[in-house]
Amino acid sequence: MARVFVITGPSGVGKGTLIRGLMERLPQLELSVSATTRSARAGEQDGVDYHFLAPAEFQRRVQAGDFVEHADYAGRSYGTLRSELDDRMHAGIPVVLEIEVQGARQVRCTVPDAVQVFIAPPSLEVLRERLIGRDTDHPEEVERRLQVATQELTAQPEFEHVVVNDSLPEALERLTDIVALHLRSD
Ligand code: 5GP
Repeated sequence: MARVFVITGPSGVGKGTLIRGLMERLPQLELSVSATTRSARAGEQDGVDYHFLAPAEFQRRVQAGDFVEHADYAGRSYGTLRSELDDRMHAGIPVVLEIEVQGARQVRCTVPDAVQVFIAPPSLEVLRERLIGRDTDHPEEVERRLQVATQELTAQPEFEHVVVNDSLPEALERLTDIVALHLRSD
């Protein structure tokens, strides 16, 4: 069975950018496409960035046991579909999940040998500037995400690997080293 890599940490910390860099360096990795009930942002494509589901459909799939993990985040549902993991794991393809902290905790139980990496901001202030600077969310949404982030940061000690995203090239190097080391030893 191939390895699962969970990349978690607060919204705006740079998980997406780091994962893009990671996958360029280690092209054998594949990214799990999550399901969500939030609406698509400009430029996001259904089935590529997310599987965008209506709340009732998301709930139906929760009841059907289709999710490996799922969580509510800032008033919306997000989850990893079993179908995104199973075939790849059996085919020996290592999979990357980009998920928030509650989901990472669930994966710790359902996929105990998953490697979990927490991406931390240098400070909450830097996180605020990044969330405002990326201009993807309304100001109220930025505030909601910062409130969640304050809580999420307290989860940091639960994680074996913590990468502080202060300098992007350095953080990417550290993340790549962690993942490459596990891939080599599997
Ligand atoms: P966004 O709305 O910015 O795309 O995502 C909000 C948060 O949900 C981010 O922290 C992101 O990592 C997380 N997220 C994305 N997909 C999933 C998922 O499948 N499960 C969980 N638990 N969180 C997810």
